[in-house]
Amino acid sequence: RPVLMWFRRDLRLGDNPALTAACKRGGPVIPVFLHDEVVDGQGAAPRFRLGLSVESLAKSLEEKGSRLILRRGDALPTLRKLIEETGAGAVYWSRLYDPDAIDRDTKVKEALKEDGIEAESFRGHLLFEPWTVETKTGGFYKVYTPMWKAVKGTDIDAPLSRPGKIPAPDTWPDSDNLADWHLAKDMRRGADIVARYVTVGEDAASSRLGSFIANGIADYDTARNLPWKEGTSHLSENLTYGEISPRTCWHSGIRAREEGKGGAETWLKELVWREFAYHLVYHTPRITTANWREDWDAFPWNEDERKAEVKAWKQGRTGIRFVDAAMREMYVTGHMHNRARMIVASYLTKHLLCHWKIGLDWFEEHLIDWDPASNALGWQWSAGSGPDATPYFRVFNPVTQLDKFDKNRDYVSAWIAEGYDSPSKTALEYFQAIPEHWHMSPNDPYLDPIVTADEGRKRALNAYENRDF
Ligand code: FAD
Repeated sequence: RPVLMWFRRDLRLGDNPALTAACKRGGPVIPVFLHDEVVDGQGAAPRFRLGLSVESLAKSLEEKGSRLILRRGDALPTLRKLIEETGAGAVYWSRLYDPDAIDRDTKVKEALKEDGIEAESFRGHLLFEPWTVETKTGGFYKVYTPMWKAVKGTDIDAPLSRPGKIPAPDTWPDSDNLADWHLAKDMRRGADIVARYVTVGEDAASSRLGSFIANGIADYDTARNLPWKEGTSHLSENLTYGEISPRTCWHSGIRAREEGKGGAETWLKELVWREFAYHLVYHTPRITTANWREDWDAFPWNEDERKAEVKAWKQGRTGIRFVDAAMREMYVTGHMHNRARMIVASYLTKHLLCHWKIGLDWFEEHLIDWDPASNALGWQWSAGSGPDATPYFRVFNPVTQLDKFDKNRDYVSAWIAEGYDSPSKTALEYFQAIPEHWHMSPNDPYLDPIVTADEGRKRALNAYENRDF
């Protein structure tokens, strides 16, 4: 009897333990992708990017004489229908760890088992299962550095190669047409602009990793902080959709470290930040929706999206160059440099005293590497409400940060047009992407800050000192 290989955020053939096990099982393998709210996320950019990934996986499967069957609807009834149509005896998938996915997968597993179907999940999205890494006294790590120390010496199995053959059934079930899902339909800023900046699929992810290890990792320690430089791997969009496995990245990082490449250890640490985020989400699912530190519920953050300051932040016109450049970078490319993410998050939650959830949602709408765990941790870390967070009273100064990390204003000139005689191509792309009703033009003068670095710092510290907890 066939096995349904249910792809979700593991859209690759290589180092995919669920797929390898499905191929080894003996019968035909029917690869399936279900379009349902849980994996798609709520945001326009993640859904658009997901569509590209699904398309690429379908091609890779076809090259192997297989197919990707697309269906729409709630997971359990849709899988049951496919089982009925194909006579499948098993469903395999890679585990996910966010609360919605866990809830759905648990129900699916139990119900399929009751139906007499073999339902098996595998590790493919993480290096370490959240229930396997514990502190000495038991329980999960709430602080990053001890977790890194605990896992850094772990002997991790080598990645699996792509299956040589994916056994095909004699007849294939019907499939939806991907174009009919209209996954890019909510991209108000124009999918074609963001599409210029994506790197899609397993082969592309693999060459991206290869070139980063060959040319980037040695300087990663310093280059990773410079937002104008290609100093990081840019693999987050590929890791998000599982176009490359964390294990493949880990092993490449370990080899680079053995070869004495300077930044390799730091890069491995970043991979473990991703793990840390997932472990926190698994053990404290509320991190995605509520203050991780509950006492922060009493903090007087503005939650009104309509406030002028929120609009200015979203539209990249706060008058703070680092913040505006970063917000525009994300709007155009779907990506934002890590340092810039920290700066804009700090500015929103501290200088502007706005709730981190506003930023979390805006990022989910616009990032092509949106990840439920890393986004939640990133925001709560920046806001001071999360585990191992930067203390609220440590306020990033977006002006001195710019002097430090963008001395020659390369990042600023890449993304801001106002005030330049001949603005850069990328800065002008922003104006092609934004809606007319924002009433912005590259010929406008660049604005004065809505809240200056110093003023914002005072506001933040004042609110913190007078807090009610
Ligand atoms: P590299 O520097 O090459 O790092 C390699 C990989 O390690 C990344 O691809 C990523 O998977 C992981 N990683 C690196 N830094 C972090 C980190 N701080 N936390 C967790 N994992 C990390 N990352 C996302 O993937 N999706 C998000 O939605 C997301 N939202 C964020 C929101 C905020 C407010 C902040 C401060 C950070 C967020 N990050 C998010 C983390 C980080 O900014 C990105 O992972 C990083 O910029 C991706 O670039 P890269 O692939 O070139 O990373």
